[in-house]
Amino acid sequence: MKLDVNALRYLAKDDFRVLTAVEMGMRNHEIVPAELVDRIARLKHGGTYKVLRNLLKNKLVHHDATKFGRQIGVGKESDIFEVATEDGTVLAMKLHRLGRTSFRAVKSKRDYLRHRRSFNWLYLSRLAALKEFAFMKALGDHGFPVPAAVDCNRHCVIMSLVQGYPLVQVKELQNPDDVFDTILGLIVRLAEHGLIHCDFNEFNIMIDDDEKITVIDFPQMVSVSHRNAQMFFDRDIECIYKFFNKRFNLTSEKNEEQAGSESDDEGNSRPSFLSVKKTAGSLDKELAASGYTRKEQVEMDKYIEEDAERHDSSSDDDDDDDDNDKDDSAEPDCNLASRDSDVPGTFSEENETSCSSEKRLESPS
Ligand code: ADP
Ligand code: MG
Repeated sequence: MKLDVNALRYLAKDDFRVLTAVEMGMRNHEIVPAELVDRIARLKHGGTYKVLRNLLKNKLVHHDATKFGRQIGVGKESDIFEVATEDGTVLAMKLHRLGRTSFRAVKSKRDYLRHRRSFNWLYLSRLAALKEFAFMKALGDHGFPVPAAVDCNRHCVIMSLVQGYPLVQVKELQNPDDVFDTILGLIVRLAEHGLIHCDFNEFNIMIDDDEKITVIDFPQMVSVSHRNAQMFFDRDIECIYKFFNKRFNLTSEKNEEQAGSESDDEGNSRPSFLSVKKTAGSLDKELAASGYTRKEQVEMDKYIEEDAERHDSSSDDDDDDDDNDKDDSAEPDCNLASRDSDVPGTFSEENETSCSSEKRLESPS
């Protein structure tokens, strides 16, 4: 390993701070965990990891394998960590853990268990990871602003690290109108490609300092040919309207020029499912190429059917759990509870009341 001494000339205070922290950690660690370096260096806003990345690039620190960094997200169905490759590139790793909460409830239902096939949480999580990876890759290939899909193995997806923050954390925007239009445009463009995100809200939209949007979180996406497609589409749109209205005071009478618009009851125009030119299945080839083939789709659908059955049967039960009943006739709204029984990949057991109560940066359960 050859050291480029020129790099030394440009080291800043923080670089030395992190190097010192590494050295201190080496007192009792042969390989110093990045978290420990972070704890000792105590740089703000994940600064340690940025500095480490830079030091790695300049070969001023050495690491011997892919590294785990800090946890950057936690949802009901996943944990997200920073990881670093051999060359120091920092990526995001999403570990799916689907169905574990569901299973606890399932176990109390003898009838349901008797008919149950051999699904387990790791298997379901693997399917969800595969689906997420395949969709991310296909969407990226079609120019959608999504993280770059790097790899997928078992229940784990590796993707590029998105710079920026979930929109839910953003209190102010320079150009709320533009961001609003961009986001609505994305929902429409997705439908034109035959897809609906089904969880398109401020928790799954990342935004950077230049107000550039990146969409994440794809396991629950459905085709525009899904029997509830229109409801899902309308709900995604509604979530965005609601959020922008509440947070940025945007009551958009605009979007007239937006593709696929029509007037709603209040005389405002918003993208409408019926007038979007949809080409269902247009991404199927790409999806299959990533390993999400018909077989996986069928398996996932089987699980969804069983999950729906469970929801149905639980509504007859006198069990005291909080399962959400399926209600296809419900008005489209941002209520995640109603989507659980219908959408692949969402298997929550909790009652949620609005899109903003979604994924929650809560502590791991
Ligand atoms: P879940 O399915 O559990 O909702 P998400 O994919 O939405 O998981 O990720 C949860 C959180 O993790 C996000 O809100 C975001 O803050 C963070 N996150 C996820 N993917 C990335 C990424 N590629 N880069 C940076 N942060 C990410
Ligand atoms: Mg999410």
